[in-house]
Amino acid sequence: MNIVLLGAPGAGKGTQAQKLVEEFGVAHISTGDLLRAAVKAGTKLGVKAKEYMDAGQLVPDKLVVDLVKERLAADDAKKGFILDGFPRNTAQAVTLDSALADMDLSLDAALLVDVKAEVIVERLSSRRTCRDCGYTAPAGVDVCPSCGGEMYQRDDDKPETIQNRLNVYESQTAPLVEYYKGKGLLKVVDGDRPVDDVYADVKELLAL
Ligand code: AMP
Repeated sequence: MNIVLLGAPGAGKGTQAQKLVEEFGVAHISTGDLLRAAVKAGTKLGVKAKEYMDAGQLVPDKLVVDLVKERLAADDAKKGFILDGFPRNTAQAVTLDSALADMDLSLDAALLVDVKAEVIVERLSSRRTCRDCGYTAPAGVDVCPSCGGEMYQRDDDKPETIQNRLNVYESQTAPLVEYYKGKGLLKVVDGDRPVDDVYADVKELLAL
């Protein structure tokens, strides 16, 4: 199972990815999680990435592409992978195609988790994230149900940054829907429903 997840920030890509990872043991490659870990660790990459992330802008392709290539080559990706938050623009999608071809791999599907903009704003502003494992839950959950870590509000889930992130999604990432449709890989699931209902459809669409 080699899959790209598409969808606006807050559409539920990470939640569906976590469920697929639990059930099928594939690697969850979330560029947002990888970048947040670099920021937390204070690496050179993290320091550079932080200013873009705080502004709700995309981090330059070169920084992200190297991270993804490294993760795709890791052992846990041999059973398959779910790319969550990557690619974010057409240049990244083209780079991904050639990196996979170099590794004798290809994508099985690009799954769009489709949710309306109004719902997204509401979800993101009430979203809390685990500092340790990245698990997400609505406001009010203070202890991570997955690992017991502390839940916090990401700086970029604050109202002033949410609109920037949605604008970036519309202008740079949404065109990927046509890109993958053209390759015959696109599947669409209605993400504005309870998590388990969405997941049931995801499995059916991916023939799992
Ligand atoms: P996410 O957790 O996927 O919403 O990502 C959080 C932030 O990390 C984004 O708003 C971007 O600043 C940055 N980011 C994550 N993935 C990418 C990517 N593929 N390309 C560029 N920037 C990214």
